[in-house]
Amino acid sequence: MKLSKLTHALMLGSLVSLAGCSEPTISTKIENQSAEKHGYELTHTDRARLNIYTEVELSADLSHLSETQKQMIVKLIDASKIMDDLYWKQAFGLNKADFLAAIKDPAVKQFADINYGPWDRLNGDKPFLNGFAEKALGAEFYPHDVSKEELNASKVNDKTGLYSVVRRDEKGELFSIPYSQAYQAELSEAAKLLREASKLSEDTSFANYLTMRADALLSDEYQASDFAWMDMKTNPIDVVIGPIETYEDQLFGYRAAFESYVLIKDMAWSERLAKFAAFLPELQKGLPVDEKYKQEIPGSDADLNAYDVIYYAGHSNAGSKTIAINLPNDEQVQLEKGTRRLQLKNAMRAKFDKIMVPIAEQLIVPEQRKHITFDAFFANTMFHEVAHGLGIKNTITDKGTVRQSLQEHASALEEGKADILGLYMVEQLLKQGEITEGTLEDYYITFMAGIFRSVRFGASSAHGKANMIRFNYFAEQGAFSRNEAGLYQVDMEKMAAAMESLSQLILTIQGDGDYERVSALIASHGDIKTQLEADLARLAAANIPVDVTFKQGKHVLGL
Ligand SMILES: [Zn+2]
Repeated sequence: MKLSKLTHALMLGSLVSLAGCSEPTISTKIENQSAEKHGYELTHTDRARLNIYTEVELSADLSHLSETQKQMIVKLIDASKIMDDLYWKQAFGLNKADFLAAIKDPAVKQFADINYGPWDRLNGDKPFLNGFAEKALGAEFYPHDVSKEELNASKVNDKTGLYSVVRRDEKGELFSIPYSQAYQAELSEAAKLLREASKLSEDTSFANYLTMRADALLSDEYQASDFAWMDMKTNPIDVVIGPIETYEDQLFGYRAAFESYVLIKDMAWSERLAKFAAFLPELQKGLPVDEKYKQEIPGSDADLNAYDVIYYAGHSNAGSKTIAINLPNDEQVQLEKGTRRLQLKNAMRAKFDKIMVPIAEQLIVPEQRKHITFDAFFANTMFHEVAHGLGIKNTITDKGTVRQSLQEHASALEEGKADILGLYMVEQLLKQGEITEGTLEDYYITFMAGIFRSVRFGASSAHGKANMIRFNYFAEQGAFSRNEAGLYQVDMEKMAAAMESLSQLILTIQGDGDYERVSALIASHGDIKTQLEADLARLAAANIPVDVTFKQGKHVLGL
């Protein structure tokens, strides 16, 4: 759920004397001394990496909001900034201000700011500043010299905890400190701001959530606030805040990093999405696969909404930017309440304008470029989320759930299913006249261009593998062709046929729980072939950004 989760929020803050900031690695100590004299500089001469992010203003229409709501947003942004400071502490051991001040080159400084430290997040965390060693896998959640074995064998009481940092005492013994203590000053301030915001909320369910979230920051108990968040339905403003995702802890994947999103709900789009979700049971019946693979009845009450984001902070703002969220992560809340999917429309628009359109200009034949539209990009992304509800969750071969039977390949196939069935849904709803914008060409060709955008993030993640399987499968089926100039053209008829047969293949493998077959599919179709690699290199050579970075805040919003 990389694109998506959010649950708990934590924050770290002021534990400076006990926590990471007082114990830089040996390499960072050396670097500090040298930086005093020379400042930090790029380790290599390839300045092109500095251009992989392009800056976009993160704005939204606030004209429908009251003065009180705007005051509330100010409080939410201020609380988010605290999440940002805490995330710096989790990701990087030295003082942020001193570190950035020691970088003289403005472009390098900005790159360090985007990466929340000296490691290139879209290039395997490789250090890009002189003097810094490899990033510790456990970031600043653990002492840098700790091994998995040592932590597992230790007496630390919440080894697998989401909301604590692990440190060594004078004797070298490991112990943990809850975030609420480690970052007490910052979290108290953030909680105070959330309470002030709650008093300004005109929506009582949102006010209730903010109060509970404030409590959670101080108690490290987030579940109740997650329930409260799922119970909110009518609030026009939202905030996802706290220690939520665990990707920053690459040693164990246990500990959550602080982040925030301040969101304005797009009420009109959210209503449309609710309407489309109601078609799921009917669309399930029409899936292009044998009856036995579509016996489950999909739920039609998906909690799927569109938003404009007006502030990203902490983990959500580091490196590549999320355009969809699926939360909470708490399993018990998920079981009882499901999850909420949030689609971040203005962030998608930024990626569309700055990345998708330029990619199409490099890789799609001129006569099809007019079909690359934001409406289609947005709809394809939205319907991906809805389409997770189609198909079946349990095998028909007594192998248990699809997830259990397909093991480490389950996510890649599930993401591939959602991509292709999302497009299937669009096609059906267009035919039925439920979707009135655009033509099928728009959706197909935009879908194709979207594959090029996504594979630039690599083929290693579940989404990356799903993309490559689809790309290589489409190539085999003639769904697109590539001319001598290296431009791609979609063949509408063959694309329709390829979509149908790929949908059938995926749904059959899932229903059968056929681990051998999915392994073979990934082995043969899951990687980036030489020609595509060369085409992607053309995008880099044309300086097309890989991702966006935001100019954001109260001044951008006019607050
Ligand atoms: Zn997905």
